[in-house]
Amino acid sequence: MSVMEHSHLLTPGWPDDGTVDERAPGLVTLVGAGPGDPELLTLKAVKALQAARLVLYDHLVSPAVLDFLPPDADRVYVGKESSCHTLPQASIIELMIRLARSGRAVLRLKGGDGYIFGRGGEEAQALVKAGVPFTVVPGLTAAQGAAASVGIPLTHRDHACSLVLTTGHLRDNTGLDMDWPMLARSRQTVVLYMGVSNLPEICRQLVAHGLPGDTPAALVEKATLPDERCITGTLADLPALAVAHGVKPPALIMVGGVVSLRAQLMPGTGAAAHRGDRTPAHALA
Ligand code: SAH
Repeated sequence: MSVMEHSHLLTPGWPDDGTVDERAPGLVTLVGAGPGDPELLTLKAVKALQAARLVLYDHLVSPAVLDFLPPDADRVYVGKESSCHTLPQASIIELMIRLARSGRAVLRLKGGDGYIFGRGGEEAQALVKAGVPFTVVPGLTAAQGAAASVGIPLTHRDHACSLVLTTGHLRDNTGLDMDWPMLARSRQTVVLYMGVSNLPEICRQLVAHGLPGDTPAALVEKATLPDERCITGTLADLPALAVAHGVKPPALIMVGGVVSLRAQLMPGTGAAAHRGDRTPAHALA
């Protein structure tokens, strides 16, 4: 169902003029759908999906996750592919609140974890303000799914004592105004969400702020999905490798010594691109 068709989802008779209904509003359940592989859903998320009557879902929710919904549940795609938003965030919030106030239970489904670069915090604030009850079900964030899937243990203590999750894409895309000295610290792993289009600038700045050009770095595209790819290199050569392999969002950038452990944990995957076979041979032996 397209978002243009959502008006019939409102209970007939619900006053659409902003006045508040006498009925109790429906509960909103904000659910993190994980990075893609449906087996990485939490049990709570699966239960919420199976019980759903109406779901508002984002671009990064994989079709295999939607398969857990009852066939007759109302599905509303509210989009968000970086610059091409199907519905602006304010309209998504407004729709969610109107549906809940009409008495409907709403499942709000987001890729990864809703509270990690998922704007779940903004939606929760709006629900509190509107007096709509809600619960939050966490999901595995993309960094966790990717780490396990490609063999990059994010805080291996030989290499890192801290982990930074950050975004390489700023609000309104006004340029990268990041805390480069903090990001360029040694003995740290940095995972950047939404950074693919700014990869050359990110690598350049990290080197300019003190990280050696040979610091291991990786791109993980479509982590945990069947067509996952992981490309490893260094801060110096990753931008060229990304172009050579045509890396596209959704992808994560991982920077730090822990990236070098992939060769040991996933032997046979080589230093460059690898497609598919996510199960290391030794795990099957
Ligand atoms: N809430 C999500 C993040 C949404 S921001 C979470 O917790 O994972 C969108 C960004 O997340 C993408 O641009 C990409 O950087 C990252 N991402 C989400 N799913 C991904 C996946 N399966 N593989 C690689 N990166 C992913």
